[in-house]
Amino acid sequence: MGFSANAQQHTHGQGQLLISQDGTEWHMQLILPAADSLGFEHVPETQAQKNKIESLAKKLQENAAVIEVDGRCALIKAAHSLVNQHGDELHKNHEHDNEQDHHDIEVEYQFSCKDAITQVYVKIFETMPSLNAIELQWLLENSQGMLTLTRSHPYIEW
Ligand SMILES: [Zn+2]
Repeated sequence: MGFSANAQQHTHGQGQLLISQDGTEWHMQLILPAADSLGFEHVPETQAQKNKIESLAKKLQENAAVIEVDGRCALIKAAHSLVNQHGDELHKNHEHDNEQDHHDIEVEYQFSCKDAITQVYVKIFETMPSLNAIELQWLLENSQGMLTLTRSHPYIEW
């Protein structure tokens, strides 16, 4: 099982969310432009920018106001691409002298659920005002499809 998502896509204001189910395990991968997540896509230069990366990393790690699911689920794993406050991971494999450089931030969650999830609510719109849409793809045991989530419709129900 896999997704055919275009990982190279990078449009400011737009993110991607991939949801898959394997029995009681649910996997979610969220990809957001750094421009919308942090307000910049370059190497952090000021202490304020480093602080911003650190606080986003904490928010993603804890899934605080990122993705809300119903059902009796436990978040058993969270991983994101913001490895440290210096942003090294964000910029590895990139040259930085080109102002056209773009960067995405990725976060992956794994939930273990006693009940099947019937609603996923993306809360991150609330704290990222420039984020307008998230292209959602899901691949569940009895359902698969695509939907564009927006600020006015930030959820999917199955
Ligand atoms: Zn960009």
